[in-house]
Amino acid sequence: MIVQDLISRIEKLQNQYKSTFEKYKNPLLGLITSRWYFSDSFRLFLDTDVNWDNCGKVDLVSDMAKKLQEFDISTTTGSAFEKSVCSWYQPYHYTPRTNWGVHIRYRCWGILSARFNKECPNLIENPLDSVKASFFYFYIHGLCHHIIENVVSNVEIEHGDPLLYSNYLSYTYSEDFNTTGCLEESLANSYLFERSILCHIDQDYLKHELLSQGEGYNGFINYVDSKFSYGLQKLISQIVKEYFDPHSKSKITKTLELAGFFNFSYIQNIPVWIHRMPLRTYTY
Ligand SMILES: [Zn+2]
Repeated sequence: MIVQDLISRIEKLQNQYKSTFEKYKNPLLGLITSRWYFSDSFRLFLDTDVNWDNCGKVDLVSDMAKKLQEFDISTTTGSAFEKSVCSWYQPYHYTPRTNWGVHIRYRCWGILSARFNKECPNLIENPLDSVKASFFYFYIHGLCHHIIENVVSNVEIEHGDPLLYSNYLSYTYSEDFNTTGCLEESLANSYLFERSILCHIDQDYLKHELLSQGEGYNGFINYVDSKFSYGLQKLISQIVKEYFDPHSKSKITKTLELAGFFNFSYIQNIPVWIHRMPLRTYTY
C-alpha cells in the first residue's frame, strides 16, 4: 500500500474514534520542544526523488558545501537526532498531518557536514559529498521510524484498532526515551549503521559516532546484522501486543513479512523539512 493510501485509511479510522483520539497529543512535541516543533520549515525534494544523485542538485546542498567553513565544529551541538534536537521524524498519526516526515535543523546539518569534511576518512576535503552524506545520515535514521509507523498502521487497519501507535508513543517510547530501554532508537541507529555504504560514510567512523551517542541510541550495537530482525520482532510485539503472534493468520506476521518492510528503497520519498530558526518568543 502506498503511503498516501495508508494515511487516508488511518485518518478514516481515527475519525471513527474522534472523541477518544482527541486526548492524544504527539509526545514528540515534549522531546523536541515546541520552539523547534512549531518553528517555520520548508520542504526539500518537492519534485524529485530523494536519492544520492538528486541530492547534489539541490541548491541548498551545493550552497552549504561552498560555505562549510562557516559552521563551527567546536560547538557542542550534537548529532544525536531527537536527543540533540537535530532531526526528528514527525508521524502522520497526529494532526495537523501536513508536516509529517523527516525534519532536519539546518545548522546541525551544516556542523555535521563540516565534521565529516574534516575527519571522516572517506570524506575529508570533499565538501559536497560530506553534505550529502550528512543528509542521508539524518534521513535513513528517520526512515526507520517511518517504516515502524507503517508496520503499526497496517495492524491498526487490519484489526480496526486506531490506538496502537499513539498508545505506544505516549506510554512506551516517551517513557523509555534516553534510557537503554529505548529500543526504537537502537533499531533506527542499527538501520543506519547497516547502510553506511548508502550514506557514503566510512563504517568504522560511523560506528564510533553512533557509539558516542546517549542511552538507547548507542544500543544499536546489540542489534546489528541478524540481530536486527530479533530487535524488530521484540519492538513490534511490544507495540501491537495481542495482535502479534507468529503462528496466527495475521497478515503482518505471515503474508507480509516483517523484515520485508525494512528493505531499503529510494522510492519511499518521505517529505523532508528544513528548519533554520526556532520559533520566536516575544516578551511584552
Ligand atoms: Zn530517532
